Amino acid sequence: MKTTLKSAGSTPNQPIIYDVIIAGAGPVGLFLACELGLAGCSVLLLEKAENPHSPLKQRPFGIRGLNAPSVEALHRRGLLQELELHKRLKNPHQNTEPETRRQAGHFAGIPFYEADVDPKQWPYRLPSATATSLLSELAELETVLTRRAEALGVEIRRGLGVTGLEQSEAGVTVQADVHTFAGQWLVGCDGGRSVVRKLGGFEFAGTEPEFTGYTAQVNLADPEKLRPGRNLTPTGMYLQSQPGYLIIQDFDGGTFHTSGQPVTREHVQAVLRRISGTDVTISALHLATTWTDRARQATSYRHGRVLLAGDAAHIHSPLGGQGLNLGLGDALNLGWKLAATLRGQAPAGLLDSYCTERYPIGACVLDWSRAQVALMSPQGRALHAIVRDLLATRDGATYFAGRVWGIGTHYDLGAVHPLAGHSAPNFAFDDGTTLGDLLQDGQGLLLDFEDNASLKTATEAYGGQLKYAARQAQAQLGLSAVLIRPDGVVAWAADEIPDASAFQQAAARWFA
Ligand SMILES: Cc1cc2nc3c(=O)[nH]c(=O)nc-3n(C[C@H](O)[C@H](O)[C@H](O)COP(=O)(O)OP(=O)(O)OC[C@H]3O[C@@H](n4cnc5c(N)ncnc54)[C@H](O)[C@@H]3O)c2cc1C
Repeated sequence: MKTTLKSAGSTPNQPIIYDVIIAGAGPVGLFLACELGLAGCSVLLLEKAENPHSPLKQRPFGIRGLNAPSVEALHRRGLLQELELHKRLKNPHQNTEPETRRQAGHFAGIPFYEADVDPKQWPYRLPSATATSLLSELAELETVLTRRAEALGVEIRRGLGVTGLEQSEAGVTVQADVHTFAGQWLVGCDGGRSVVRKLGGFEFAGTEPEFTGYTAQVNLADPEKLRPGRNLTPTGMYLQSQPGYLIIQDFDGGTFHTSGQPVTREHVQAVLRRISGTDVTISALHLATTWTDRARQATSYRHGRVLLAGDAAHIHSPLGGQGLNLGLGDALNLGWKLAATLRGQAPAGLLDSYCTERYPIGACVLDWSRAQVALMSPQGRALHAIVRDLLATRDGATYFAGRVWGIGTHYDLGAVHPLAGHSAPNFAFDDGTTLGDLLQDGQGLLLDFEDNASLKTATEAYGGQLKYAARQAQAQLGLSAVLIRPDGVVAWAADEIPDASAFQQAAARWFA
């Protein structure tokens, strides 16, 4: 931890040993750095790019849809309030429709509507201070996270990409250009082409792409030749979501993206003409990028003292916008577990539970994106009408909303109570605060609605890791007490008079 290991005034004979070195200051690396900094760890964040201000991170290219767990996580760390954009762009869908037909999301481009979603099917979800989804801009998100990380003492060094690593039982030595750094742990948050993943010998298993996707800002000489909205055509899909901002999918087996050829105006125009079946003319190409639906996942997220999170651990198509949400969830899950391990306060298996819990969530998202690709591919079109009909039913819309908004996301903790493994409901307390306010310090929490003396005493055994709060909530959902991990996940809950020994058993699994 900071006080014992990191010495700012080190000499060549006395190198700084960081608790954690993170490769990659994208949103996932930055959020993980914040989590570790909050827990008092010394963190070095190495970022390859000199300049964090890429136009691909700004609107419209850098717009990312955040789902309920991500919004909740930012809220629970007091970061949501710092994002200006969310105040202006609450809903990621263009809501020109009347209230009753407000689009709530889509699956493979097939919309479902808020009015069809039945929130009663989520009995533990409370009306939240946060939206179920909202838009963010990568540039703004990274700025807010950078500011927070620096305030928490994280050292960020830009223009230094990780080029080598060596690990022993005691720690990791990281090479970045001509510099060498030492840490107890290394986490690769260095994106889909992760160098840490390759150097660390991780297996990256999955499926190859079916299409090349294009995002391009252009001037169109004859925009009226393109149809509005999302258009599936025999060879792909095109969408002009705002004037001159094009998203195209070309089912070319991903060959153009893989070829590494430059994305020229002539090429994008040829693809757009072929996909749209028009002779539309692109008179200027301002900025363009390509992507694919290659879907791969590291078979393990940990090798010794090297871990992976975010796109470094899993890649998939951006259909349905889940990658950032997945990565932020990784960081939230890993941060407190790694910090407890560093403090020597981790119960057996705590760090390994990072992979056990996050791998299946990642695998599910990969399949979700593959299923959308299958439906959008020329061979999958026969399924369209069937899925459209399902989405128009109450159960169908609720199922898809649960997946797209991330409300159904939970870990299998093998516990009895149906709330265990789910994100804790955002309880609103009589004093006007909410659960989010209580979780901002990153500690575990025993929330006691019954003011039970034996629970209070049992909590004291866990010192600074776990705090106790007796509160009355406006809606207690039939619960008498809830044990919440630092990542906001319910570890244990009781409906009746709580049993202190059951609480102790649950707490001992997560806190030492
Ligand atoms: C068109 C598109 C739309 C998307 N829409 C959504 C959406 O709506 N919702 C959603 O949840 N997700 C979306 N995503 C996915 C999302 O953008 C990514 O999953 C997310 O940005 C991954 O964050 P990351 O921090 O893991 O990786 P990155 O953002 O890739 O950051 C990795 C960082 O590591 C740095 N780096 C690379 N190599 C090294 C090295 N050797 N050493 C040090 N640093 C290194 C890079 O410079 C970079 O800063 C979309 C993606 C695309 C392409």
